[in-house]
Amino acid sequence: MEKDIQNKEHIKGFSQIKVKDLNISNIDVYNNLQKIDLTKENLSVPKQKIINKIKKSYEKYSKNLSLEKDEYVLSEFELFELSKLESKNTVRYLIYRYIYNLFPRLKIIEDFPPCVQLEPTSKCNFRCIMCYQSDLTFSSKKAGFMGDMNFDVFKKVIDEIEGNVEAVTFASRGEPTLNRLLPDFLEYCKGKFLGLKVNTNASMLNEKMIHGLLSSDLQTLVFSVDSPNPDEYEKIRVKSNFKRLMKNLELFHEIKEKNYKDSKQIIRISGVKMSQSQKVNKMDEQFGKFANFIGFTNMTPWMSSYDNEINDIQDPCTQLWTRLLVRHDGTANPCDYDYKDKLSKFNTKNLSIKEIWNHKTYMEYRNLHLEGKRKELFPCNRCLSTGK
Ligand code: SF4
Repeated sequence: MEKDIQNKEHIKGFSQIKVKDLNISNIDVYNNLQKIDLTKENLSVPKQKIINKIKKSYEKYSKNLSLEKDEYVLSEFELFELSKLESKNTVRYLIYRYIYNLFPRLKIIEDFPPCVQLEPTSKCNFRCIMCYQSDLTFSSKKAGFMGDMNFDVFKKVIDEIEGNVEAVTFASRGEPTLNRLLPDFLEYCKGKFLGLKVNTNASMLNEKMIHGLLSSDLQTLVFSVDSPNPDEYEKIRVKSNFKRLMKNLELFHEIKEKNYKDSKQIIRISGVKMSQSQKVNKMDEQFGKFANFIGFTNMTPWMSSYDNEINDIQDPCTQLWTRLLVRHDGTANPCDYDYKDKLSKFNTKNLSIKEIWNHKTYMEYRNLHLEGKRKELFPCNRCLSTGK
């Protein structure tokens, strides 16, 4: 079955998306939930409360009743993710997605962030037009922001979040595959997280890296590609080469078909929507065979984070409740919009993730946002994000 979805809610921030092979519905999840013996799940008291809330949501859903703001059923994208997991992980996945989606909306802070984003490197081989890599005060060597994550910085974070966080994404300011330790990082993550993800521009894929990605526990691999038109693609992704992209995607596909035929990994092709000429159906014609999902995210004006006009937005930004970014050197920050880490007062080398997430300063940021005073924070005062 192939189905078009044109609803932003299916993947947060996506303006248009195409999903393939969806063979599970929320009614199936409801029926499964009836059969699962929750006493055997060994859940903590807070998690029991969450699963009870989810069960109630599904009961209401099955009767076509509308849900309260603290109730939740899976989106079609999440149903697709669930369909790729072993059934023993159903309850774990439902709780993880509830926390990931609803805690930021309900402004609930627990010991750990719903998502940790790791930066294997801050370096990038592209200079995309919408990206801060084109800001030389950031990306030039002498600016001091460039570097690769070493294994000690990585391991300290992973050891702490294992069992406490499910969503771990390798992506931040640079191109993750430029750090040759990436396959080792992925190997170390095996069996630890349900929502492991890598975002890559696919330009540096070679056989070793492809085997590293495909043999890992990655739930999702995202290829950042914006257009099937070589000129348009190379205009947006400055320093890229469309022929090399196609060659690498073909190599990836060939190795996957030959050696990892039963892989459950979800492949997503994700572009940044810059103009109306970028059409998801055209993307599907060119890249369809490589991916389960194809879609566009909306453009964020990252290249001017610190120069945008001060705005009047008063809505709190959900990033402060959703994720913690750990840069290559251990610096921890709420978002990539603040690519020079002006908000950061934290480093994982001397503080734990739990200490940072619940840090007095971090709580002050959240309170300012909740009180409609984000103008008092730089660069939140120039940022358009509400994280919605
Ligand atoms: S408002 Fe912008 S700068 Fe502030 S935390 Fe959110 S994304 Fe980051």
